Amino acid sequence: MENCIFCKIAAKQIPSTPIYEDDDLIAFHDINPAAPIHFLIVPKQHIATLADCGEQHAALLGKMTLLAPRLAKEQGCGFQLDEQGHASGGFKTLFNTGPDGGQEVYHLHMHVIGGPKPWRGQR
Ligand code: AMP
Ligand code: ZN
Repeated sequence: MENCIFCKIAAKQIPSTPIYEDDDLIAFHDINPAAPIHFLIVPKQHIATLADCGEQHAALLGKMTLLAPRLAKEQGCGFQLDEQGHASGGFKTLFNTGPDGGQEVYHLHMHVIGGPKPWRGQR
């Protein structure tokens, strides 16, 4: 897709700070973080929004979702439950869809936002 910033990042035509990459996905730090930890999980395939996804994208969406806790842990905002049942850490996952959903980049992406009270951030 021409003039799509995330297609260009996936194709290495513009730089990013990647934290993960495989054949289907790339994950990189958000350039304007809303919290101490804020990265994006992005399919390499151009899909404009979550509303454009169908059954054929179920495995891709599942892969994105399952990658979130793994990368969150690596980035320092993993969720933990200790033997006493005390919960700590954790993160927020978010898809913005359309203008009323606050979507700015029309290439599907999942925000993963962590750190103290990340839901008090702007997104
Ligand atoms: P959304 O509002 O859900 O479309 O979010 C788009 C996100 O992409 C925003 O949080 C931006 O800060 C982020 N973003 C835009 N351009 C870049 C870039 N070149 N590298 C990393 N993140 C970006
Ligand atoms: Zn794209």
